[in-house]
Amino acid sequence: ESLDKGLEKSKTSFFDKLSKAVAGKSKVDDDVLDNLEEVLVTSDVGVDTTLKIIERIEARVARDKFMGTEELNVILREEIAGLLAETESNAAASEEKADGPYVIMVVGVNGVGKTTTIGKLAHQFTGQGLKVVLGAADTFRAAAIDQLEVWSERVNVPLIKQQMGSDPASVAFDTVQAAQTQGADVVLIDTAGRLHNKVNLMNELSKIKRVMQKVIPDAPHEVMLVLDGSTGQNAFEQAKQFTKATEVTSLAVTKLDGTAKGGVVIGISDQFQIPVKYIGVGEGIEDLQSFDKHEFVDSFFN
Ligand code: GDP
Repeated sequence: ESLDKGLEKSKTSFFDKLSKAVAGKSKVDDDVLDNLEEVLVTSDVGVDTTLKIIERIEARVARDKFMGTEELNVILREEIAGLLAETESNAAASEEKADGPYVIMVVGVNGVGKTTTIGKLAHQFTGQGLKVVLGAADTFRAAAIDQLEVWSERVNVPLIKQQMGSDPASVAFDTVQAAQTQGADVVLIDTAGRLHNKVNLMNELSKIKRVMQKVIPDAPHEVMLVLDGSTGQNAFEQAKQFTKATEVTSLAVTKLDGTAKGGVVIGISDQFQIPVKYIGVGEGIEDLQSFDKHEFVDSFFN
């Protein structure tokens, strides 16, 4: 029920808008579809994904000749669930344990909640009895290293760091090496997300990967992109840039507590075909939830 609470704003807003879109109508017609399109776009589902949903509903209306507005709710749920990329099991970290540490490289621009998400994840993993090591490979800002240090102390997990300005790949190397020596289960590596220079970003991320692979040949096992769910189109743009710069394998969408824009999860998952693994629903250490698409869709409609 905490998911419902966390998504209250998105839910109320989407459901309210949807109710208004069909108010006084018993069947789905062009008016209802136009209104629905507007509701989806203003909920930040994104234009492409919205059009896809509308087309599918139109096709079903054409096929069945008639669709009641109550039925629309059910069908919309099905279509949205169908668009959300399938999330793999969250047990990945413990499954990989046998072969050494499971390495997650975390990417995303500053301010999206990257450090907070790493802290919350470290807390979850230690709660599952896993041994975690953090790496401060965002060496560009002193504050990034300091903030990660605060989390490492809070969660009581080791942090591998160097001075500000040092080579991020060198920090990543030290981190995976320390993790392997200490028999850690999970490694979370923070990276700098300076999007203004795409070539630099690409080079930096591939160098980090290459250097880590000297210690653990199949690292990173996961590249997690953190996006701020309250930023709508900016989140789309960041997903576009990062997927061009590196192979992103999972998403964490933050700040879904304070926004009426949860629809961004649907659009991004559909457009980029990357599973959303976690959602952030607050600033607290417990405010990170494993993403369950059916729960998510339900919270939109109930
Ligand atoms: P970074 O620059 O990407 O590392 O961002 P931080 O982790 O420092 O987070 C930036 C701000 O967003 C901080 O004030 C966090 O407390 C806040 N924040 C992070 N995740 C969430 C979330 O899920 N919900 C809310 N409301 N705030 C969040």
